[in-house]
Amino acid sequence: MAEQRGDGRGAGDGRDGGRDAGQSRHRVVRPEEARAWEELVTTAIRTVSDGLVVGTSGNVSVRVGDTVLVTPSGVPYDRLQPDDVTGVGLDGRQVLGTLVPTSELPMHLAVYRTTGARAVVHTHAVHATAVSTLVSELPLIHYMAAALGGPVRVAPYATYGTDELAENMLHALADRSGCLLQNHGTVTHGASLDQAYDRTAQLEWMCRLWLTATSVPGLSPSLLSGEQLAQVQERLRGYGQRR
Ligand SMILES: [Zn+2]
Repeated sequence: MAEQRGDGRGAGDGRDGGRDAGQSRHRVVRPEEARAWEELVTTAIRTVSDGLVVGTSGNVSVRVGDTVLVTPSGVPYDRLQPDDVTGVGLDGRQVLGTLVPTSELPMHLAVYRTTGARAVVHTHAVHATAVSTLVSELPLIHYMAAALGGPVRVAPYATYGTDELAENMLHALADRSGCLLQNHGTVTHGASLDQAYDRTAQLEWMCRLWLTATSVPGLSPSLLSGEQLAQVQERLRGYGQRR
């Protein structure tokens, strides 16, 4: 992957030299966008290799200035090249690349328009998606819910790619950095791709934990109270400052 040109990673300058500019792209890729793209592709590949996504059934985006780089629709992540940088403005108009952006673009843009997020990860992770079909909020099975801002809500179902789904998601995300989408999957955001990715992994893990604990016949798991979770949020804030 992305090896064929060695380190001659000239994205941003000189790439159009050998190309007919007309159809190739909307504007030249800036160096910071080329770097962000590389991280985005790495993160997208990780969602597949860690089992959070099968095929191309998820998508990842990262904000650089007022441009949102996003995985294109239907291209296996390990085939994405430096030349495939796909970017849109906050209004959704494509400004970089010729590949079609993910069909879930409205969700990504809704997050960037309403929060200070720099990255968004969307998956169809199996345990999280299973939980989304059972409850309207993930029960407080573990204190790591505090890392997502509190009890994780489930956004009511709407057809993928629609503004309605984006709106349902925004409601579920209020004061949270992650939510479930009913009969669909997960959405998390963060200050970086790594943070957004980690939140997805934590969310999937918590859902798996709850499903495991509730699968024991005749027993039901103890749950944390809102107060217990608030105490953890307090501690996490301190933890963040010390690092
Ligand atoms: Zn989806």
